[in-house]
Amino acid sequence: MAEKSIEQTKRFTEMVAAKQGWILTKDPAFYDDLVTGLTTNWNRYGYYLCPCRDSEGSREADADVLCPCAYAKGDAETYGHCFCSLYWSPEFARSGKSPSGIPDRRGGS
Ligand code: SF4
Repeated sequence: MAEKSIEQTKRFTEMVAAKQGWILTKDPAFYDDLVTGLTTNWNRYGYYLCPCRDSEGSREADADVLCPCAYAKGDAETYGHCFCSLYWSPEFARSGKSPSGIPDRRGGS
């Protein structure tokens, strides 16, 4: 599988945000960290495993946490941003608030 570059991953996050109607985190250094994490995960596992979570060992086991994860929509609606705070809802972006730690819904909680 071809390796992804940082630029390709940035384009991926921009595409996801545009498709879902989300805003990318407004913290440039944090954005760079998350993009680096996603790129590293792609090049290690062959898929965009969430940069804030550990792999369960296979693409099938990680299916719920391929970015954008199965929990992102609900978390954006409830908390204003996804678990990693990579993607924000437009309302949250307008609020001027800073992201906070939110519970990880993975695992059925
Ligand atoms: S929490 Fe979900 S949407 Fe946010 S970066 Fe991780 S996988 Fe992507």
